[in-house]
Amino acid sequence: MGESVNLFEIKGVYKCYQKKSKPKVYAVYNVDLNIKKGEVLGLVGESGCGKSTLAKILLKLEQPTMGQILFNGQDITDYSFHQMRKIRNRMQMVFQGNANAFNPHFTVEQIIGEPLNNYSNESKEEKEKKIVSMLEKVGLNKTYLTRYSHEMSGGQRQRIGIARALILHPEFVACDEAVSSIDYALKNQILTLLTDLKQQFGLTYLFISHDIAAVNKICDRVVVMYLGNIVEVIPNINNNAQHPYTKALLAATLIPNPKNRRKNTVLFREGEEIKIPDKGCVFQNRCIYTQEICKNEQPALKTQKEGHYIACHLCHHS
Ligand code: SF4
Repeated sequence: MGESVNLFEIKGVYKCYQKKSKPKVYAVYNVDLNIKKGEVLGLVGESGCGKSTLAKILLKLEQPTMGQILFNGQDITDYSFHQMRKIRNRMQMVFQGNANAFNPHFTVEQIIGEPLNNYSNESKEEKEKKIVSMLEKVGLNKTYLTRYSHEMSGGQRQRIGIARALILHPEFVACDEAVSSIDYALKNQILTLLTDLKQQFGLTYLFISHDIAAVNKICDRVVVMYLGNIVEVIPNINNNAQHPYTKALLAATLIPNPKNRRKNTVLFREGEEIKIPDKGCVFQNRCIYTQEICKNEQPALKTQKEGHYIACHLCHHS
């Protein structure tokens, strides 16, 4: 088997926000990450942990405060808008297919056709042919061309979002909570569709979700983020997760009765403001195993075994 090649490599990436007279807040903190060609990399963590910011940094929709982004071995960190335009068609994003995901005045044809209008000089007929063909690939047909987004279900909107992202035949698609607003049966259909399309088009996905079950179904590897930091990278999150935060995240997701979820977990409560510690482990204020060393030294992301990395002082002592 040939060695895997990285489509994306990010090194030492930080994203820092500072409002007037307020302390700095890091949405992304010293992140190193590779995304291999052809893989589905999951990115999990609660809302506000920096998942979406990291995706936007990869696609250069946001500029990192510090660090380096390589795409196909090319350093794109300081690419201008015009330089990015030349490669923008190779990387796309799919968002949550909720009711206001698209311009309400656009028909499906206009929604899917917009990237073609921006990036190709083909005739109207050629574009329409491509749009119909892409509609069919996502399980819809040409009767949808004249519909508006409010006339469709969440699942149909999600398919339109996917068609729009794929119309320029990108190599990479970041799916940001792409199955979060749809019910269980539809969710499975969309996950199957994403897997089929990946095979057909040779895609690489970054699959961002707080839905561990969906992540388990589709991802080859999972990255767990907590307050802007990667705390664990694991091939199968259900199997062998060791970081206390990953375990808490799994416990909160996998305990079927929501009433029982809180007992053993250490997760955000709605509206709660979490203070990022000045030093030491980012998870120390919520971890049930915190020790003196955790308050003083930030644990580095270290290899546990091949492909499995953990940032925790305790996890490496066993
Ligand atoms: Fe908990 Fe310490 Fe590990 Fe951080 S380093 S997760 S505080 S045990």
